[in-house]
Amino acid sequence: MSRPTSFQAGAAAVATLKARLAAAGWLRATSGNVSVRLSDDSLVITASGSDKQVAHDDDLLWLAATGRIRSGTGRPSAETAIHQAVYGAVPEAGAVVHVHTVFNNLAGQQDDRVIVTDHEMLKALGHWDEGGTVSLPVLPNLADLDRLADLVTRQLDPAVPGILLRRHGLYAWGQDAAAVLRHVEAWEFLFEWIYYRDLARMPTLVGP
Ligand SMILES: [Zn+2]
Repeated sequence: MSRPTSFQAGAAAVATLKARLAAAGWLRATSGNVSVRLSDDSLVITASGSDKQVAHDDDLLWLAATGRIRSGTGRPSAETAIHQAVYGAVPEAGAVVHVHTVFNNLAGQQDDRVIVTDHEMLKALGHWDEGGTVSLPVLPNLADLDRLADLVTRQLDPAVPGILLRRHGLYAWGQDAAAVLRHVEAWEFLFEWIYYRDLARMPTLVGP
């Protein structure tokens, strides 16, 4: 595990992640946020309300491990508490990504867990066992972000690099920017697959 040692290196990693997520169409309507943890446990995180689909160099904040702003303008993402909850609960996490997508909303709308068994894409999430199962927690979308952060801390499984908020979006993490990108892409692939798999199982809507 190697974490960036400077704000500039962390900012470059955040910019790369934003560009990749924007290209996938996962940062619509100023939604989503990205953070990277530096070697001293400080965070580089996107500012609240900025359009992360546009490359800015002034929409990032550098937060000390205590949450105090070291540099940058604007407010930290409103969901900073969730990022901090993930970093607190998963010591090896070096980057956190949050995206609102139609498919992650659909995947989390019914049950308290999204369970995927025996799928090749689970390898991208670090699960290599043949026929293995991954169980992704789905949490209610509490308006009180401190309560929500507490729930994330209690419900997340460090071996499963993600958590879903119902009718809201996905949080994913990884040890660095490359890992979190792999994880968010794997989750979103699986959410799309679940949707189309279930659609394919439905009786045809058109009569014989
Ligand atoms: Zn959100």
